[in-house]
Amino acid sequence: MVWINSLYIKEKIPGLEKYLSYNSSTFKPHCKNIIKDGYILWCKKNASVYSNGKLRCYLLFKCNFGFENYLSIVRSFEHRKNITKLRISAHKLQIEVGRYQGTLLQNRVCHGCNTGEIDDEIHYLFKCVKFTQERAELNDQITLICQSINNLDDNNRLLWILNNENSIILKAFCQYMIKTGFK
Ligand SMILES: [Zn+2]
Repeated sequence: MVWINSLYIKEKIPGLEKYLSYNSSTFKPHCKNIIKDGYILWCKKNASVYSNGKLRCYLLFKCNFGFENYLSIVRSFEHRKNITKLRISAHKLQIEVGRYQGTLLQNRVCHGCNTGEIDDEIHYLFKCVKFTQERAELNDQITLICQSINNLDDNNRLLWILNNENSIILKAFCQYMIKTGFK
């Protein structure tokens, strides 16, 4: 158990000590659960610090800790990559590009249309007039499955689509990103 001490897990995650005398097959699941619980607790306590930075979008829809099912539902690596990029804001929308360049938030506007709106995930998915045709095709697919989507506000629609696990919705969502040249 030397590695445990070397990682300072005992100090950072209380409760591990009592399992140190267990054999490794018993210790392992206890250790996993304690580290997982400790990580979730740490996230809940500290996430708000990053809510205006890199986690700005992620914190809007990330509700649970665990494996994301879209990773096994979406077969294409490129499509999975695009969904992940949008989810974690590893993209080239101006909201992120501007953050890296130190541009004021109100100046991170969309270069694809002249509405003067901030180029964030909601603008890209639901508003940018440059992608009206592509969005209509996406909406056609979505409303076949969920007509009430149009009753949601933008934040809830974003939450709904980024947490969606329906293969048809995910496919349409991926097609939207491909057709619009999402990067
Ligand atoms: Zn736009």
